[in-house]
Amino acid sequence: DEDRALLDAEGLLDEDGQPMAPAPVVAVVGRPNVGKSTFVNRILGRREAVVEDVPGVTRDRVAYDAEWTGHRFTLVDTGGWAVDATGIHLRVAEQAEIAVELADAVMFVVDATVGATDDDEAVVRLLRRSGKPVVLVANKVDDQRTEADAAALWNLGLGQPWAVSALHGRGSGDVLDALLEVLPDVSQVTAYQRGGPRRVALLGRPNVGKSSMLNKLTGTDRVVVDDVAGTTRDPVDEVVELAGRTWRFVDTAGIRRRVHQTRGADFYASLRTQTALEKAEVAVVLVDASDRIAEQDVRVIQQVIDAGRALVIAYNKWDLTDEERRHFLEREIERDLVQVPWAPRVNVSARTGRHLERLVPAIDRALESWETRISTGRLNAFLGEIVAAHPHPVRGGKQPRILFATQAGTRPPRFVLFASGFIEAGYRRFVERRLREEFGFEGTPIEISVRVRE
Ligand code: GDP
Ligand code: GDP
Repeated sequence: DEDRALLDAEGLLDEDGQPMAPAPVVAVVGRPNVGKSTFVNRILGRREAVVEDVPGVTRDRVAYDAEWTGHRFTLVDTGGWAVDATGIHLRVAEQAEIAVELADAVMFVVDATVGATDDDEAVVRLLRRSGKPVVLVANKVDDQRTEADAAALWNLGLGQPWAVSALHGRGSGDVLDALLEVLPDVSQVTAYQRGGPRRVALLGRPNVGKSSMLNKLTGTDRVVVDDVAGTTRDPVDEVVELAGRTWRFVDTAGIRRRVHQTRGADFYASLRTQTALEKAEVAVVLVDASDRIAEQDVRVIQQVIDAGRALVIAYNKWDLTDEERRHFLEREIERDLVQVPWAPRVNVSARTGRHLERLVPAIDRALESWETRISTGRLNAFLGEIVAAHPHPVRGGKQPRILFATQAGTRPPRFVLFASGFIEAGYRRFVERRLREEFGFEGTPIEISVRVRE
């Protein structure tokens, strides 16, 4: 099994010998009461009690590890998003919209005995637009007599309706086979690995000291280069021992090759940054403290934010700074790096080794924030307070209000706000600032999107 041997050599197999590539994500969406939770339970083999009906309490999005005929996937049940603490109903299309963003494929559950409602039609339009694979589950087909109800759902234009009885298990094997047909092996929405050593990208413009730092951190004799079968495959990662733990520095070949000495350096530098970021969970961006902050420094940091990775900024060559330079550096940071006051900062010297031991704690803090999940209850209680204290300004006689919010994902934290009208950019920034004040998020970008309900 050649693939497996390669993965093994790359350290990408878990303890059971399974590839650690991220499992694809399947969202189960549909109107309330169509049987989503029952269906999820059925797939999980009732391994877990999904339904936890505490009146008035919102169940958070729940994701489960599922498996069918040896294929693993992550199953997301949207059932708990229906109602918030104050009784506001999320429209099913709104739930579906969030779910679809997070999923590689969607199982759309319709109650065949009821048929497609207007709400179902709205979801269908959204699913079509998304371009994601959809498996149509015609549920509550408990016996032969209701088969015709399932067939009627061909009209939705989502392909074959799979007749299922989630309650009795009828047809669930076939529908899972159909799911596996359209599901990618590796998640396209979660571009990172779970498990294994943390993946770090060392970034920064040419000459900031990346290879010097890599050498200092690895200690040339202790480097473990992933030299797969003796080939010089690019890009190569290095597994590094730091603070008693193992880390994977991704795409270090690009650093070692010193591309900045060749023509087209900028282009290759930016390309390297991009590919490294795709593999990394956290980026350490080096900035030359002895030199003026350059546009290229800002650009690399922006690339990290856009990629949604955790971020630490290391001001390198600290040994070359004097008091005057440090004074100007602070001014430049205030002026040019205003968008990242939340990034942990370390002042280091790759040459002398100064403060390099502070790197790991900073990385840890950033990763912890990156993976933080705020419960829907806590989030809405907090938003309720800030909205009451600082309402959105009235515009054209109307006052847009934030009705409800949920954290739609982590790595990085992603929030969706449901609002009664257009929320101005200034107010969004205000909300982000307050979220950061309340919950920290040191070292992670956070994404906030707003859905306006008509
Ligand atoms: P959800 O709100 O979509 O998660 O729906 P639930 O899973 O909570 O199910 C709603 C109701 O439909 C419950 O009373 C279930 O027992 C029932 N139900 C779910 N699946 C089936 C089915 O296949 N056949 C029948 N007859 N009832 C079902
Ligand atoms: P890269 O292009 O980002 O990989 O940068 P290099 O590691 O090749 O470093 C560029 C130059 O800066 C080399 O001459 C290094 O010796 C020097 N350098 C790197 N880090 C430091 C540092 O912390 N202090 C000083 N004084 N020089 C450094």
